[in-house]
Amino acid sequence: MILGLEAGRVQGTERCIPANLRRMAPSRHLGLLAVALFLCAGCASLPRPSGPEAPAWRDERVLDSTDADRLLVEIDRVAGTEPRPRALRLFMERLRFYTDKPGGIEVVVDDVIAADRYEPDSISIRRLARRVRSQRRAGQSGGATLHILYAPEYLRYRGYAWARPVMVKTAAGYDAALVLVLQDRLRSILWITGARQEASVLTHEFGHTLGLVNDPSHGMNGHCTNAWCSMYDGVDAATAFLYFFPTLFTGYLPVSFCGDCLADLYPDRVPPGRRR
Ligand SMILES: [Zn+2]
Ligand SMILES: [Zn+2]
Repeated sequence: MILGLEAGRVQGTERCIPANLRRMAPSRHLGLLAVALFLCAGCASLPRPSGPEAPAWRDERVLDSTDADRLLVEIDRVAGTEPRPRALRLFMERLRFYTDKPGGIEVVVDDVIAADRYEPDSISIRRLARRVRSQRRAGQSGGATLHILYAPEYLRYRGYAWARPVMVKTAAGYDAALVLVLQDRLRSILWITGARQEASVLTHEFGHTLGLVNDPSHGMNGHCTNAWCSMYDGVDAATAFLYFFPTLFTGYLPVSFCGDCLADLYPDRVPPGRRR
């Protein structure tokens, strides 16, 4: 979803992930839901590509090594929230796979922010991010920075992202994308662990900060129309058919971008992790 404020000004702007995204919670209702979806498969309204192929904005500073050969990830958290180590490990793997940073990727779990400093509205969140961002070593010496803020909640979302061009407009010196992880929405549901959900949200929001999804040939409202993609959004028949059993039995949630999204990010469609 693109919020009205920034929509259309800069490609790859404010993006979000609804709280109910792929919440395939096994419950006594799911059997009925599966039957209903099976019966209704022909009439479900699925996300469809919204236009012809078009070149999309991509954050080359984070993706490539030309401008910045290192990446610093600063994580600040509101008291009461805490990154799950397994989610961070999985997300680190994704960072190494999707970015070309021969100088290395450094993740710093930094400040704890007093709970009363967090106000869950868009302007206050960005203001707080500017105030608490303190790790600027890589930024000062030619590296790229990704800022991640863990907080309890923000509307109904599980995650949210502001791409670098939006944050630069907010404060010229900030020069980083901001990802918000809303941990109150990421509780384990049976064996679909909170860590898996958190890794899935981190990857999805990171994708928004890279520029996904602005190519209308596989995108709608900033999200990918391929249901197996980490940038897919929403719960519908396609997701249910693809993910119902894998999610139910293995806790699988997508943490990878599809071929169409890879084509938006890399000229040859090949992410750096596959080149090595
Ligand atoms: Zn999203
Ligand atoms: Zn995709």
